Amino acid sequence: MKITMLGTGHAMVNNCFNTCFIMEDNDRAMLVDTGGGYEILPRIARAGYRLENIHDIFISHKHTDHITGISWILRSFISRTRKNPDTLLRIFGNRDVMNLVSTLAELQFEESVTSLLGKKLFFIAVKDGQKADILGNEVTFFDAHARKVSQYGFIMKNHRDDSYVFCGDEPLAEDNFPLAEGCKLLMHESFCMERDAHIFNPHKIKHSTVADACRTAERIKAENILLYHTEDWHLESRKRDYTEEGRDYFSGGIFVPDDLERIEF
Ligand SMILES: [Zn+2]
Repeated sequence: MKITMLGTGHAMVNNCFNTCFIMEDNDRAMLVDTGGGYEILPRIARAGYRLENIHDIFISHKHTDHITGISWILRSFISRTRKNPDTLLRIFGNRDVMNLVSTLAELQFEESVTSLLGKKLFFIAVKDGQKADILGNEVTFFDAHARKVSQYGFIMKNHRDDSYVFCGDEPLAEDNFPLAEGCKLLMHESFCMERDAHIFNPHKIKHSTVADACRTAERIKAENILLYHTEDWHLESRKRDYTEEGRDYFSGGIFVPDDLERIEF
């Protein structure tokens, strides 16, 4: 499994892009979250991918930094279907996400998009526990029990039974610990380091510190944790500092990627 981070920051960062990434397995690619706007398109290209080769997108929740790039992806998809009528795109998300995506699409693109729905373009509103085949792997969507707006994550399981758990941008809820137990990779938000919590106040906005996220990874016996959705005040030392703090709480592999970094698991 290759994971390429297109962005690693929270909603209001200036020095990196909002958290979104590409998962690639079995020669197929899936986009997870779409960032906050047009920047998603050049990011995909800079990461070495072509949008026309991405046929599956998952959007965790309806906040601006996760959903707004979808307008540009749809705009590109519509023009592509004119040249290549065989192209397909599936977009997965919870009911709130899909309501917003449908509304945006219909208001912005009208007939150009509605004529493709159910034929080339599929808006799939998922429920807790629902499964789908994505990248040739089994994906189970779960309600993240987020405290702000309705948010979903997923577990992707490959043929070797390795599981990759994406938690969106809120902490993995205790209720979902059994789902993530023993996973190969926990993809978890981490707003800032514990030592900087007095500056960024992550708990007030329902986010975690590095220490919080790593404690969770240890409790569920994850093999690795990947941290994202961070502050951007000292990106040049973020990898080193976050990894160092995490090591006090988690004995597995700690990954703190930079934007456009690719990691293979
Ligand atoms: Zn966010």
